[in-house]
Amino acid sequence: MPKRLREVVALLRAPDASALFAEAQEVRDGVFGREVFQRGVVEFSNHCRKNCRYCGLRKGNAHLPRYSMDCQAIVQAADCAVRMGMGTVVLQSGEESALDIRRVGRIISKIKRLGDVAVTLCLGEHGEDDYRYWRDCGADRYLLKMETFHAGVHRHCRPGQTGRTRLGKVRLLQRLGYETGSGLITGLPGMTPEILANDLLALSQLSLDMIAVGPFVPHPQTPLGDSAAGSLEESLRATALLRVLNPKANIPATSALDALTPKGRELGLSVGANVVMPSVTPESVRGEYFLYPGKNDSSVPVVNTIRRLQQRLREAGYHPSSARGVSPAYCA
Ligand code: SAM
Ligand code: SF4
Repeated sequence: MPKRLREVVALLRAPDASALFAEAQEVRDGVFGREVFQRGVVEFSNHCRKNCRYCGLRKGNAHLPRYSMDCQAIVQAADCAVRMGMGTVVLQSGEESALDIRRVGRIISKIKRLGDVAVTLCLGEHGEDDYRYWRDCGADRYLLKMETFHAGVHRHCRPGQTGRTRLGKVRLLQRLGYETGSGLITGLPGMTPEILANDLLALSQLSLDMIAVGPFVPHPQTPLGDSAAGSLEESLRATALLRVLNPKANIPATSALDALTPKGRELGLSVGANVVMPSVTPESVRGEYFLYPGKNDSSVPVVNTIRRLQQRLREAGYHPSSARGVSPAYCA
């Protein structure tokens, strides 16, 4: 095993990670200070043609009521995010087979006219022409998580899909000039510390502008519903390692951390994350964007959810920022 890989495995397995966490925090403070960038996520459709074994939106989940927001509702949700101080709007959905590429383009242009706001897309795998078109319409960023680079785990968790194809898409997005993000799910069934260490190093070689890592959270209506959840500690160590390896990348404290423990986001920030991505999807459909238990609470109005999160950030000693939050890695 190469020396670097051995070192990362040792850090994932060490009895105590406090030195790693302190180093990650110091690196984050050195680059971003106590500023936390806010991205409002509009989850505009839960239709999906794919069957990822971990995800509640998978095509095979017949229990999920499906929805698709109209253009006006999407722009309204984005407007709410901007008014609540988010410098970025993220448009996220399942991989719809009937996705209207031109309609998404019109929505991007409308959101860009709301103010000084960046638009991130998280719409899965599409062709070069579509990615290019959305970029021309004003999309700034694209998030496409690798989930894992390991061929066997990838094949098992994402039937019919390959890491090689996904990596090709990540590289394509970089060539098209997007601020590009990718990431991992930690603790997927079959993952070992060696596989995770290799994933962390592979991700760090891609010169990414954004990196998202969150624990696997089992969803009862999926084939992996009886599997164990990813460990919170392992996901925090993965976040800290990514911060040390990628000082200038934007790294979110993911909602999957909050799904495992009430102060999950604060823990993510304490180990090097510098971004939060609250859902700004309207209450009427938010509960149906049900990737995993604990993901979206539809009982609280969007405005209250955001205010509560901003309050949590302040209480933990951070400054919720309204800046677009371009990655210094992208500016360089
Ligand atoms: N469909 C697009 C795609 O797959 O890239 C974008 C939306 S997808 C719902 C967003 C992310 O949700 C995925 O990249 C995956 O990492 C995460 N996700 C889905 N199910 C999950 C689970 N059970 N536990 C943790 N993360 C999960
Ligand atoms: Fe669809 Fe994305 Fe869920 Fe896979 S992770 S089933 S592509 S929404």
